Amino acid sequence: MTSLWLDRPFERVTDPFPTDSSFQDVVVGAGLTGLTTAVLLARAGRKVGVVEARHFGAVTTGRTTAKASLLQGTKLSGILKSHTKAAAQAYVEANREGQAWVRRFCEDHGVGVQTRDAIVYAAKPTELPSVRKEHKTADSLGLEVDWVDELDVPFPNHGATVLPGQIQFDPMELLQALVVELHEHGGTLHEGFRVRSVSRTGRPELQLDNGGTISADNVVLATGIPILDRAMTFAKVEPQRSYLLAYTGPEVPLGMYLSVGSSSRSLRDVPTEDGTNVFLVGGSGHTVGRTGSEELHVQELRDWTQEHFPGAIETHAWSAQDYSPYDGLPMMGKLPLGLGRIYYGTGYDKWGMTNAVAASLSIAAQILGGKEPGWAKALDHRIPKPRAGLHAADINAKVGVRMAAGHVRAELFNAPDSVPEGEGKVGRDPLLPTGTSTVDGVTCKVQAICTHLGGALKWNDSEKSWDCPLHGSRFAPDGEVLEGPATRPLARQDAEETVSS
Ligand SMILES: Cc1cc2nc3c(=O)[nH]c(=O)nc-3n(C[C@H](O)[C@H](O)[C@H](O)COP(=O)(O)OP(=O)(O)OC[C@H]3O[C@@H](n4cnc5c(N)ncnc54)[C@H](O)[C@@H]3O)c2cc1C
Repeated sequence: MTSLWLDRPFERVTDPFPTDSSFQDVVVGAGLTGLTTAVLLARAGRKVGVVEARHFGAVTTGRTTAKASLLQGTKLSGILKSHTKAAAQAYVEANREGQAWVRRFCEDHGVGVQTRDAIVYAAKPTELPSVRKEHKTADSLGLEVDWVDELDVPFPNHGATVLPGQIQFDPMELLQALVVELHEHGGTLHEGFRVRSVSRTGRPELQLDNGGTISADNVVLATGIPILDRAMTFAKVEPQRSYLLAYTGPEVPLGMYLSVGSSSRSLRDVPTEDGTNVFLVGGSGHTVGRTGSEELHVQELRDWTQEHFPGAIETHAWSAQDYSPYDGLPMMGKLPLGLGRIYYGTGYDKWGMTNAVAASLSIAAQILGGKEPGWAKALDHRIPKPRAGLHAADINAKVGVRMAAGHVRAELFNAPDSVPEGEGKVGRDPLLPTGTSTVDGVTCKVQAICTHLGGALKWNDSEKSWDCPLHGSRFAPDGEVLEGPATRPLARQDAEETVSS
């Protein structure tokens, strides 16, 4: 399922595998966090290399909605459940600076950026108290929000808080401009190399999946969720997947809309050169690998769109995931147990267009020895209320339940030799669960156990992938890693790929 943003050719500017190891800084991951950090470091004259397992924008940044807003659903009132007002204020400042940086970068580099109102609304009367609370919280944190009782839109609404002057853009145009600037400053981008591990002592040495190594003074893990387990960061975030559909046809109201509540709806327009109406509808999220059928979530969005925008023609459907932190605040800076040389940014909770940039500004300031922004220090030294600890325990209890349940399923049967096109099935032989799938006529058998921490994998019927319900690692039908904390592919259970007739 290709995103609207990725469905076009890009000028590939990838550099060969580096033969010398004289990097000062190696950034792992070429999404918004990695490329922004790399540009900031390269601008300061440092020798920077970016190592990317797939291609730039391949994972979340190339599949996002790309609204850069300071009003973010019920995020601010959520933060206040686990933190003081000062911590929430630091969060707003971090996002304000991230947004200002992106806006300036886009303007300076000819990347199209549109100014829109951010609108957080109640789709049902029962959601109104949450929206009112967010309105009050945003106001108390200095955001100039307006209250609107009724929106002039063709979908149900019962009151909204509105923050004018927010922005949206095309995330791949932004990444492409970052890659160009990285090269202008002598930085390099090495695509198609997955980092497997980083040494624990001395100058960090990165082991790559091609057997090569690279070393650097500093390593920045900009991999979505960090790929190193040593600080157990993966246990402090929950992987959340949600869905996006692109449409042409009817005009949509201009604005970045988001409903609150569990089955949220997100809406934005996408300007086109020829004036064709294009818009995105998103939502219907869930924890990765913890739903019956992913395809049903896509269908839910399709039904909603047809009801409220009849005649809309679907052009793209895709999904993506991001990581929700246990205490509501993003994590950035020095990785605990990283010996002061490994940095990371994660936990943006689907608000990375501002948070990723804030993380990059904070990491670059620390590496360059400059003055760290006050908000970065405040986020770094936060002390969550006990409630956040309970949430962390709850996240990990659910992981534990999934871990056990995945391996003790009632249906014990041998793996089928083949399955119908588009399907994947796990043979629940408890010693060796084999996943058989057929996609585009190719049948593959893999060991359906996550190579991260051994979770029992589930077939994703929408993306046609093997997804881990523990920490969100995902694998292609042939076992290659797609995303998440895993760095090793699934073991193949068939000697060769067999093409079914
Ligand atoms: C459906 C959805 C909608 C969203 N909408 C918005 C929005 O409207 N506004 C907003 O602010 N935020 C939004 N977000 C969140 C935002 O898109 C993300 O927070 C942001 O893109 C994360 O960027 P990143 O660079 O940290 O991660 P990514 O873009 O995922 O980049 C990580 C990169 O690291 C690479 N990598 C991983 N492991 C390795 C390894 N071992 N070796 C080498 N490379 C590796 C990956 O291949 C990938 O390219 C949304 C998220 C989702 C899921």
